[in-house]
Amino acid sequence: MPNVTLPCQFCGTLNRIDLARYQDRPKCGSCGKPFLLDRPVKIPEEHFDTAVLGAEVPVLVDFYADWCGPCKAIAPAVDEIAQENAGKLLVAKVDTDRAQKIGMRYGIRGIPYLGLFEKGKLVRNAVGAVGKKALQDLVNPQA
Ligand SMILES: [Zn+2]
Repeated sequence: MPNVTLPCQFCGTLNRIDLARYQDRPKCGSCGKPFLLDRPVKIPEEHFDTAVLGAEVPVLVDFYADWCGPCKAIAPAVDEIAQENAGKLLVAKVDTDRAQKIGMRYGIRGIPYLGLFEKGKLVRNAVGAVGKKALQDLVNPQA
């Protein structure tokens, strides 16, 4: 515990993973490749509800697009948040060009859009090329 259900980044198979054991690099039950959970995990639209809304930990979702310069600018800070909070927070990346239904569901008009999801609900968000401090506040507002 806590558990998350994530698609393998290599073969796409959904795996149920105990996030507390992330340092063991749990292997995909299908292809045997490891899950690297101290960095952002790409989530395709069809697995969003399972992976993000169904996670037993808070999930920071970076909604981005490949053509978006500010998205690239904040990517290193998003990577750091994933590393610093590994095991207790999941950091997901969603390509908005390939997830238009999800974008509409949450009314996302500008990217990068960072959303913090807890227990299946969007609880806080930040839009634009915000700094690391804003990301930390999003993840942990008391800090
Ligand atoms: Zn796999």
